[in-house]
Amino acid sequence: MTDALVLIDPAASIVEVADLGAPQLPVTDLSAHRGDGIFETVLVRIGDSVTVVSRDRHFTRFCASASALGLPDPAPELWDCGLDTVIAEVRAADPSLTEFGVRYALSRGTQNPDGSQSPRGWAFNVPVDEKITRARAHGISAVSLDRGYDAYLGSKAPWLLIGAKTLSYAVNQAAGRYAAEQGADEALFVSHDGVVLEGPTSNLIIRRGDRLLTPNPEAGLLSGTTQRLIFDHAGELGLNAEYADFGLSEVVGADGAWYVSSMRTAVSLNQLDGNPIPRDEELTAELQRLIMAG
Ligand code: PLP
Repeated sequence: MTDALVLIDPAASIVEVADLGAPQLPVTDLSAHRGDGIFETVLVRIGDSVTVVSRDRHFTRFCASASALGLPDPAPELWDCGLDTVIAEVRAADPSLTEFGVRYALSRGTQNPDGSQSPRGWAFNVPVDEKITRARAHGISAVSLDRGYDAYLGSKAPWLLIGAKTLSYAVNQAAGRYAAEQGADEALFVSHDGVVLEGPTSNLIIRRGDRLLTPNPEAGLLSGTTQRLIFDHAGELGLNAEYADFGLSEVVGADGAWYVSSMRTAVSLNQLDGNPIPRDEELTAELQRLIMAG
């Protein structure tokens, strides 16, 4: 897959194509050594037309994350241009591609001698890799991990940036590695007081009869664009969608469970902490179709 990169200068309102293989970021950039920035990853589907799945939901969350970190409001036309330029570059290089992701980010940038900062942005493409296609087809296993804080802490501690999609993902990455060491595909974060939260890079949805349930974002997790897309269309599947607090026993006792995120779409959670969860192949396929349609 070809690599496309655009650099986005928010102050000058400039989007320019750059070389992903060449050095672009000064080591003094605050994203590089503080993780001080925000990002989104969108799924792009190419059929008769180009679909950027949940384009608006992503941009709205990007703006909310910017606000939480005190970064400048992202200008829609600039970020649209960045996203569309990456898509055009990738399609021109490989017209046979049917799907890929685009990751766009805004960093606080470098600290200037006068104390001001120079935010900078970028966007580049990411592949739908073999791990994702395998998970879509066969599902995944997970182990539960303590997230280390109680549910609903976010409103009392806004500096924790719970619910913002920041570039500080070292903890999420470490949780993924820890899960792999336990022989599982994924981690499932649980609040210290026992409320199920989310995966390190995905939301959890369970089915109980005709109800889809997902943890309340206010409990201390990222409000997912994929989860919200599913909830917006649940009625079309004959299902009711609700936010709810639940524990691990409700996940294991569910009629079906899914990890949902932009790149994965919906993948069935087949096993949690060694306990089997029923696989609902039909609903998995319907959810994947629904998400891919955007
Ligand atoms: N939760 C976390 C921590 C994530 O990183 C992600 C994915 O980026 C999600 C949930 C799912 O969000 P989305 O559906 O917007 O990809």
